[in-house]
Amino acid sequence: MANAPITFPTELLIDHQRVRGEGAVEPILNPATGELLCEVREASAEQLARATSAAHRAFASWSQTTPAERAGMLLKLADAVEQRAEEFARLESLNCGKPFARALGDEIPAIADCFRYFAGAARCMTGSIAGEYLAGHTSMIRRDPIGVVASIAPWNYPLMMLAWKTAPALAAGNTVVLKPSEQTPLTALLFAQVAAEILPRGVLNVVCGRGASVGQPLVESPHVRMVSITGDVATGRKILQAASGTLKRTHLELGGKAPVIVFDDADVAAVVEGVRTFGYYNAGQDCTAACRIYAAPKIHDRLVADLSSAVATLKMGTQDEDGVELGPLISDRQRNRVASFVERAQMAGHMEIVTGGRLRQGGGFFYEPTVIAGARQDDEIVQREVFGPVVSVTRFPDEEQVIAWANDSEYGLASSVWTQDVGRAMRVARRLQYGCTWINTHFMLVNEMPHGGLKSSGYGKDMSMYALEDYTVPRHVMVKL
Ligand code: NAD
Repeated sequence: MANAPITFPTELLIDHQRVRGEGAVEPILNPATGELLCEVREASAEQLARATSAAHRAFASWSQTTPAERAGMLLKLADAVEQRAEEFARLESLNCGKPFARALGDEIPAIADCFRYFAGAARCMTGSIAGEYLAGHTSMIRRDPIGVVASIAPWNYPLMMLAWKTAPALAAGNTVVLKPSEQTPLTALLFAQVAAEILPRGVLNVVCGRGASVGQPLVESPHVRMVSITGDVATGRKILQAASGTLKRTHLELGGKAPVIVFDDADVAAVVEGVRTFGYYNAGQDCTAACRIYAAPKIHDRLVADLSSAVATLKMGTQDEDGVELGPLISDRQRNRVASFVERAQMAGHMEIVTGGRLRQGGGFFYEPTVIAGARQDDEIVQREVFGPVVSVTRFPDEEQVIAWANDSEYGLASSVWTQDVGRAMRVARRLQYGCTWINTHFMLVNEMPHGGLKSSGYGKDMSMYALEDYTVPRHVMVKL
């Protein structure tokens, strides 16, 4: 991979035309070295207006296509992603700093599967039956697309978030204006090239730019009927405010701080292996990361010891290093943010950094995988999302207390329970206020099942039939007989 020639896609897709942005220049960096990969120009206000108008015009015909026709195109998108898997994975790993093998082996198959799932799902929607609920009148339910959807994506899984957002929106008959993160636009721009060969004019538009200069005006556009955002809680709030002026539908996937509840009877080796993998995957830049461990008294000390030894063996490195498991953080800013969380934890006095806790010197934005023991429920490290390779461990006294602590969080996205007792697992899972609870695992997602949060983690579901519902509106048609 390292020696292959790389062409960086830098053109936006507006009304089926690939065009250079006419706005400000954004440098695109390789987080593993800090070096410049290329520059991408933002969409100008006039280009953004053209993109939303194109999507608006295209809606008239795209919304009238049959599910089978749309499914055919989504299947082609899936095939195209697979055919160019190495190219997509290479761009994603260079732009995000991810290990190339993980981008290729884990992400690309899940992305292709997402398009395939929604191709099938578009043809399988179900609902209430038509009938005579008022004498002499027949009522029926339709589920129709909403209109132009603004899809706004984050930097941690740029192409996967594109897939989660555009596949259900397009499958349901909406048209889309997608804005990738200003930091990680490259795979979206390659996808734009692929999509231009498959989708009709104006159905998908891709515009680049920052939140304030491009994201906000996109949300405010009168052509846009729905905004779907994956990002920070603060960004979600801003988008809600901006969308309120025109009463747009919103679909929010925001942050997380997943509790990992480990009971005394858990298989400690499995927990250690699980947290070593799922607490640090994507350098912990994952809204479901297994980052907030609650350990029962009898296994607490062993868990801390085994986990810190296991985490210390994680291989950190650049995209192509043999056996690399952990890349850098996305930016120097993000690394400093992570480092400051750990410094504050250290300064609190009662916590111990049992492994990691340092920046790696040299190029790139690397931060050592870190375990912090002795964290208390009201510590910042337990309450706030770090979005980096940092896991805290808190000792809990009993089941009742750990359920209360797990739920005592602004977030409500993902959680896990580790125990051999199926009754306890089900009892605890039932009471956790999280969009997802895994039992004796963490992090596993499938396109058939919904992903989304409660509380400040947002609302709206990605993946599954629930996403298709979110991108459609139920309508009642009544006929007087
Ligand atoms: P971010 O909020 O900084 O940016 C997300 C996107 O919003 C970017 O494209 C950005 O340009 C855009 N944006 C920012 N301000 C905007 C505004 N005022 N109007 C319109 N658009 C605006 O998030 P990030 O740093 O890219 O991603 C990390 C965050 O995403 C974390 O909090 C993480 O938990 C969350 N996340 C959540 C999920 C989930 O499924 N719930 C998945 C991945 C990431």
